[in-house]
Amino acid sequence: MRQKLVAGNWKMHGSLVQNKVLLDALVTGRKSLRNVSCAVCVPYPYLFQARMILHDSELAWGAQNLSPFDHGAYTGEVSGPMLKDFGCRYVIVGHSERRTLQCEDSALVARKFKAAQAAGLIPILCVGETLAEREAGATEKIISDQLEPVLALGIEAMTNSVLAYEPVWAIGTGKNASPEQAQAVHTFIRQGIAARDPEIAAQLLILYGGSVKAGNAAALFAMRDIDGGLIGGASLKADEFLAICAAASC
Ligand code: PEP
Repeated sequence: MRQKLVAGNWKMHGSLVQNKVLLDALVTGRKSLRNVSCAVCVPYPYLFQARMILHDSELAWGAQNLSPFDHGAYTGEVSGPMLKDFGCRYVIVGHSERRTLQCEDSALVARKFKAAQAAGLIPILCVGETLAEREAGATEKIISDQLEPVLALGIEAMTNSVLAYEPVWAIGTGKNASPEQAQAVHTFIRQGIAARDPEIAAQLLILYGGSVKAGNAAALFAMRDIDGGLIGGASLKADEFLAICAAASC
């Protein structure tokens, strides 16, 4: 039985004052939830604050990106070992906003994935198609192409990782994939992994992300292969995020 995970992606939002209010509320609300893992992935400058507030709570924290390198002359970059220093458990890699805005391709994403695991972090690897790709019937090919460089690292790499199916057309649009649409892609992903290693596939957490809210979370999380959510906008509101976590806790 896979325990569900709900991870917040704060993106480039927050301030010391706002974060304190939000994190305090999450720590309090989290106490009454059972059988669910919860995490927040915060901007780099707030990792220290997250660690200070969350260190003895049941909430994990993480980052939204990392360098593929451990150290060196890479001005402005942050490495996996640095994130580990700040107590991070998770790091998001391959988010569609970075694939698009920072031109990250799947080969670079795979290097970041590997760097995360080498540093003892759990990468949350995002994959997903655009609306045009879906309408062209190319969803499965796009997902396969995005996964391929990571799978080339060896199927064992999937044991310490989390996947997130995030259709680009659902991110920040208020238009989530239906539970059936998401389940179909999650099944496709899990079957692809199972063809290489059924046990690893059975353990692998595959999150859904894209306009998840308190109102639609339960229906999405009821699907057999949806193991929780990666939550953007709704993770910035304590009540909403806690309600989503509650929908995953059973
Ligand atoms: C995300 O940024 O990963 C995301 C899923 O955003 P939202 O929940 O706002 O659609």
